Amino acid sequence: MPKRYPRLIVNMNKMRNNAKVIHDLCKGNEIELACVIKGFNGIPEIAEEMVKSGCRQLGSSRMEQLKEIKLRGLGIDTLLLRIPMISEAELVIKYADISLNSQKEVLDTLNDLALEYGVRHRIILMRDLGDLREGLFDRESLTEMAIYVENELTGIILEGIGTNLSCYGSIMPSEDNLNELVANAMEIEKIIGRELRYISGGATTTLPLLYKGKLPERINHLRVGEGIICALDLPLYWDTEIDGLETGVFRIEAEVIEVGKKPTYPIGMKCVNAFGETPEYNDRGVRARALLAIGNKDVGSYTALLPVLEGVELIGASSDHLIIDIENAKTEVKVGDILEFDLFYQGVLFASDRCYMNIELKY
Ligand SMILES: *Cc1c(COP(=O)(O)O)cnc(C)c1O
Repeated sequence: MPKRYPRLIVNMNKMRNNAKVIHDLCKGNEIELACVIKGFNGIPEIAEEMVKSGCRQLGSSRMEQLKEIKLRGLGIDTLLLRIPMISEAELVIKYADISLNSQKEVLDTLNDLALEYGVRHRIILMRDLGDLREGLFDRESLTEMAIYVENELTGIILEGIGTNLSCYGSIMPSEDNLNELVANAMEIEKIIGRELRYISGGATTTLPLLYKGKLPERINHLRVGEGIICALDLPLYWDTEIDGLETGVFRIEAEVIEVGKKPTYPIGMKCVNAFGETPEYNDRGVRARALLAIGNKDVGSYTALLPVLEGVELIGASSDHLIIDIENAKTEVKVGDILEFDLFYQGVLFASDRCYMNIELKY
């Protein structure tokens, strides 16, 4: 049978290697690592490869993914990264060992269900340090909530506190904001009279602080996805090259369906493109270009693609078509050729949809 395209190739050796590099970096600094699987739709075979790094926690924002992982019996803890929906509380109690929380109503619901099921659910309370997504906004509210959980909710174990940065507000983790998290934790510890197990200092974007030896000492937990599955953001945006990390864990292959020379500036009266946008077009004269059978539907946005063939430029895309400039391509591009692209996080997120994409796990 001929192979079908587009096709997502997962390099399991690279996945294992990257997870191990991050795991060892964390371990060397006495930090517990949760490997985050939501970026590749939690595909269990890939998650299992992550676990071979030695990490003892797998995290996702989606309960369906954590349930599938839990049912595999990998002997690791599942961590729910998104504040639980009250409507999924029962799933949380059954399939998540730990969840991140901020709301009293949710915690009360989790507590009732934990008591009903005869288990103790573990939680990390989230503090918002300015990125303005989830978490309690000030120190007093977080401390108050922590005391409430500790003293009133017998079905729940307060494992620690955490924060999330550089997601909505584009705010960098820093010694300043993470020291505030530590100070908040110490205030709680003083009142409840015991040490918190975790102070969870963020995601991939906290790794630069760790790598440069600037992470506040008491931060002892991180939740890392992108840095393992793409490893593109740290060198590109954060001026951080972590030794040993490899790109190209996920690569997508697409087939060329048209090649030829065309003008670069559209002809006729301009209105809007396929998505109601009005992009600028640059007139570069007549150039060689190719059309590929892959589009924004496959990868979220074509800007999440990184051509592997040297000299190829991304020009544009609609739902199911990608246009590339091949005027300076290193080798000739013909109809029927298969071209490879590395993927930024958004690309992996969309392309790893098992219901839809042809996915090949390469061991
Ligand atoms: C997605 C997510 C992470 C992982 O983020 P990366 O940038 O992929 O490392 C960590 N924590 C929370 C709360 C998340 O939602």
